[in-house]
Amino acid sequence: MQTHQFEAIIVGAGGAGLMAALYASKGGAQVAVISKLYPTRSHTGAAQGGIGAALGNLDEDKPIWHAYDTVKGGDWLTDQNAAKVLAETAVDAVIELEHMGLPFDRTPEGKISQRRFGGHTSNFGEKPVRRACHAADRTGHMILQTLYQQCIKNNVNFYDEFHVIDLIRSANGAVAGVVAIELGTGEIHIFHAKATLFATGGWGRIFSVTSNAHSLTGDGTALVYRRGIPLQDMEFFQIHPTGIYKLGILITEGVRGEGGVLINGNGERFMERYAPKIKDLASRDVVSRAIHQEIKEGRGIKGRDYVYLDVTPNTVNRYFAEAGETRRITAEDVENKLPDILDFCRVYLGVDPVKEPMPIQPTAHYAMGGIPTNVDAEVVTDENWTVLPGLYAAGEVACVSVHGANRLGTNSLVDLVVFGRRGGMKIAEYVKHADYAPLPANPSAEIEAELTRIRNSSGKTRPGELRAAMQKVMMEDVGIVRNAAGMNTALDTLRELRDRHQTDLLIDDRGQKFNTDLLEAWELGCMLDLAEITTISALNRTESRGGHSREDFPNRDDENWLVHTLVNRPAGMGIAPKGDMHPEINVKKQVDRSLEKDDPRFAPKVRTY
Ligand SMILES: Cc1cc2nc3c(=O)[nH]c(=O)nc-3n(C[C@H](O)[C@H](O)[C@H](O)COP(=O)(O)OP(=O)(O)OC[C@H]3O[C@@H](n4cnc5c(N)ncnc54)[C@H](O)[C@@H]3O)c2cc1C
Repeated sequence: MQTHQFEAIIVGAGGAGLMAALYASKGGAQVAVISKLYPTRSHTGAAQGGIGAALGNLDEDKPIWHAYDTVKGGDWLTDQNAAKVLAETAVDAVIELEHMGLPFDRTPEGKISQRRFGGHTSNFGEKPVRRACHAADRTGHMILQTLYQQCIKNNVNFYDEFHVIDLIRSANGAVAGVVAIELGTGEIHIFHAKATLFATGGWGRIFSVTSNAHSLTGDGTALVYRRGIPLQDMEFFQIHPTGIYKLGILITEGVRGEGGVLINGNGERFMERYAPKIKDLASRDVVSRAIHQEIKEGRGIKGRDYVYLDVTPNTVNRYFAEAGETRRITAEDVENKLPDILDFCRVYLGVDPVKEPMPIQPTAHYAMGGIPTNVDAEVVTDENWTVLPGLYAAGEVACVSVHGANRLGTNSLVDLVVFGRRGGMKIAEYVKHADYAPLPANPSAEIEAELTRIRNSSGKTRPGELRAAMQKVMMEDVGIVRNAAGMNTALDTLRELRDRHQTDLLIDDRGQKFNTDLLEAWELGCMLDLAEITTISALNRTESRGGHSREDFPNRDDENWLVHTLVNRPAGMGIAPKGDMHPEINVKKQVDRSLEKDDPRFAPKVRTY
C-alpha cells in the first residue's frame, strides 16, 4: 500500500474535474487528479452539440434570458441563485475557453458561431435564439483536450487509471481523502488531502438504453453516499428524445438546431401539436414524452417503437419556407456541421442522414440529481445548506441545483466550466488555512474487505445478469412515464438483485492486475444503490415535474413540491448494504427563488413551448 499527500485531490478528469484542478493549481494549491480512465477518454469528450452562453453573436441575447430558460427548463425546481451564476458566468467562461485555444466554429466575421437548441429563447420565451457555441459536433472533445493541455502546462499531477473506491473520513467525520486501486497492479493507494472534489460524472448505465459510456456507473455518487452524504433530487433523470434506435447513441439536439424535424409513422411533424411555438426545439422532457405518446398511440414508424429525425435538406428547407424563414441548408452544411452524427448513422445503421431520415428513440442521458452543493461546489449535508468542510463536487455528479427537474441542452458543459472553476478557486482559498484531517488507523480496511468478498465470491450469478435485469426494470418502470405500481415492482426487483449481489455473486478473475471483472462487479453495487435511491425518490414525489412524469399524479404541484429531495443512508449501515435497512427521505430543503423576488417573470407558471 502507498500513501500520498496532496493539498487537493480531484476525483475525475472530465470537464468539471479538469477545470477545478486548473483553478485550484492556479490559486497555488498542490493538486492531484485521479481518474479511472485516461483523462481525455472521459465522457465529456462525447458531448456533441455545444456550450450555451448569451454571447449574442448571431441573435440578440442576454444572460437574464438564459437564466430564465434554465429556470423554466428545470420546471421551476432549479435553484434560481445557481441559474443566475451559471448564465452570467457562461459568457466569460466561453471566452476564456476560446483564449485557451478551443477551436470554436466561426461566423463569416470571425465571431464564435452559435446554433439553436431546445428551450433556448429570447425575451422570456418569445422565440428561439442561437445560443449554443459549437465546434462542429465535437464541442466536448475540444473542451476536454483544451483543459487537459492547460492542466499539464500548470503542473497538475495525474494518477491515470486509478479507480477510487472509498471516501476517507476521520473519527470526528472530517474528510481526509480517498482510497484508490491502481488498475495496472491492483495495489491500494491512500490519498490524504485537505480538500477532495468529486467530478465523477453520471450514471446512465443504470438504464438499458442510454447515451452514456460503460464507465458511467456513478461510483463517486454512491461512495460518498455510503459515507454519510445525502443525495439530492435523484428522481430526476433526463431521458433525451433522440438516441439511435436500439443503440441509444446520442443524436445531438444540434440536429434539430440546424433545422431537423421529428416525423411520425403518418409522416406528420408531430411536435407542432405538443409545442406549437417552438415545436421540435421544446425542452427534452416535453419532446421525449411526445415521442412516447406517438409510439403508444400507434404512430411509430411502421407502428413500431421509433420515429424519424429528418435533417435532409429537402425536408428542412420545406419547413423553413413554410415558417417564412429565409435560411436554407445544403448537404454540404449538414456534412460540415454534423460530421460525427453522420458517421454514427452511416456506420451503425447504414443510414445516410443527408439522404434519408434517422430512426430514433428516447435514450437515458443525464442525471439532474447528485451530491448537493452550493454555488461554490462545497458539499452541503442538509436542508439548512450546512457545508461539510473539505468536500466538494462539480459537474454531472453534483446537484447545484441548476438543472432542476430537467436540464437544458448545452447547460451541462456550462455547468462544468462555471462550477468547476468556482470549486477550484474555493479549494485554493481553503487549503491555505485548513489542516490535514488525521487518517484513521487503517483507512482502507473496510473497502478492502468488500473487494475481497467480491474477488472470492463463488455463487451462481454473474454481474452481467444482475446488471441487465436492473437496466431493464429501470427503463421500463422508472423511465419516461412512471406510476406507483411499476415503481413498487421495480423496487422489489432492485432489492432482490442487491441481495443476490451480496450473497450469490460469481466472478472469474481472482487476480490483481487489471482486474476489470472485480471492479465491474463493484461498480454494479454502486449502480444498484443509485437505482434504488432513484426509485424511492420517484415514488415519494407525488406529482409530475420536468423529467419526472407520473401517470397517477399527472399535474405539477407547486404548493407541496417546490422542495428538493434529500436521501440519506441510515446511520450504522456501513459501506455494504444490510438487509432491511432502507434509505431515509427528507423533503424539507426549499427551492431557491431569489430571482422571483425582484422579477415576477421568474415565478412558476404553466410550462408551454
Ligand atoms: C453523447 C453525449 C453528448 C452530450 N452533449 C452535450 C452537449 O452538447 N452539451 C452539453 O452541455 N452537455 C452534453 N452532454 C452532457 C455532458 O457531456 C456531461 O454531462 C458532462 O460532460 C459530464 O462531465 P463531468 O466532468 O461531470 O464528467 P465526465 O466527463 O463523465 O468525467 C468523469 C470522470 O470521472 C472519472 N471517474 C469516474 N468514476 C471514477 C472512480 N471511481 N475513480 C476515479 N475516477 C473516476 C472518469 O475517469 C472521468 O475522468 C452530452 C452527454 C453525452 C453522453
